[in-house]
Amino acid sequence: MKRVTVLGATGSIGRSTLDVMARHSDRYELYAATAHSNLDELLSICIKHRPKFAILATDAGAADFKQRLRDSGLSTEVRVGVEAMCEASSAKDVDVVVAAIVGAAGLTPTLAAVNSGKRILLANKEALVMTGGLFMDAVRKHGAELLPIDSEHNAIYQCLPEAAQRLNDSASLAAHGVTRVLLTASGGPFRHFSREQLQQVTPEQACKHPNWSMGRKISVDSASLMNKGLELIEACWLFDLAPGSVQVHLHPESIIHSMVEYVDGSILAQMGNPDMRTPIAYGLAWPERVDAGVEPLDLFSIGKLHFEKPDKARFPCLRLAEEAFALGGTAPAVVNAANEVAVDAFLQGGIRFVDIPVVIEKSLLKGSIVRADSVETVIEADRVARQYASEAINELAGGVIVP
Ligand code: NAD
Ligand code: MG
Repeated sequence: MKRVTVLGATGSIGRSTLDVMARHSDRYELYAATAHSNLDELLSICIKHRPKFAILATDAGAADFKQRLRDSGLSTEVRVGVEAMCEASSAKDVDVVVAAIVGAAGLTPTLAAVNSGKRILLANKEALVMTGGLFMDAVRKHGAELLPIDSEHNAIYQCLPEAAQRLNDSASLAAHGVTRVLLTASGGPFRHFSREQLQQVTPEQACKHPNWSMGRKISVDSASLMNKGLELIEACWLFDLAPGSVQVHLHPESIIHSMVEYVDGSILAQMGNPDMRTPIAYGLAWPERVDAGVEPLDLFSIGKLHFEKPDKARFPCLRLAEEAFALGGTAPAVVNAANEVAVDAFLQGGIRFVDIPVVIEKSLLKGSIVRADSVETVIEADRVARQYASEAINELAGGVIVP
């Protein structure tokens, strides 16, 4: 029996994880579940999965939540705050940690899992983008078993020979004959929108992804191609690749989740219906395979697959992420933080969709980029970048204060 902590249990990835776990209750047991504000959902999770711990991000509603647990006859213990999340990620009873908190908020508890050498199913790409080399050094140092469950990175991982799958080993993919990684992207809901049309798009349109059902932040990132920028950085760190050997391919059907090219001319692709339960089940069971509850792929009904080059002029977020990775140091953390603030402002109606890259670029130019020599340095860069991004938003929005 594997004991699992799900960080961000009430989110889209969290729900898919619990669905897969429930199909295999003889193999996986929920140890701890964390949530930010959806306490009704956390209560339902506790009733169904009976974890040892339920962890809330803040005190708000904690007393009432405890009472509701007692009323339901559950002995789940309630804890509050980041420290409690770190404990749930590093406890000796825990085998697997699913890192599914959205954004920089997931960094500290995810690193706690890395530093205790757990199997980590990584969805929270922002944590890796922010701390890059520090994160991967910690994976190697503590012998953590890092399994990417971002669908593209999971696809790449599946297309590698087993010897190359140990991401805490330092042998390069080139030594295994890999020449290129082809990172696929749906292109999001605005793939064919003109610059003029992009000026008018609403949060509701941005959150309506054509193929995937996801949280609001990643949905906006998919629409702006920032998600692909973050994923390019994620791929470089996970697989120790130079950005030049990762090529983004728009593939609107989201059937091929990414590909690996080898020196003999072969390209291996991983395909499947766009359902996150496939990579999650893979990460939970690796190196075995278990049923994920996913509909089998019917290629006859799909018929054709298409590929296009991304347009970085209409979608500057991809370029900004690439530039940040090339700059190195704290630049990716700055871009990530400014993006989080800008996306939040867009979702609240404070700025336009096309202002997101403007806010990020302003924040990147304003601050100084330093060596990312410690996690504290990165967290400080994140804090300052949020301040710069808020200032940029206030300038754009004509004084509207956006938190
Ligand atoms: P979501 O918004 O649906 O869920 C986010 C989760 O994080 C919730 O459980 C929420 O309670 C928690 N959370 C939010 N803010 C928090 C805070 N300040 N402190 C503690 N917890 C907090 O997001 P999602 O779509 O499930 O995405 C989660 C992560 O997985 C993101 O990093 C995203 O990029 C990545 N990811 C998601 C998908 C997908 O299909 N949804 C695919 C690939 C990668
Ligand atoms: Mg992805």
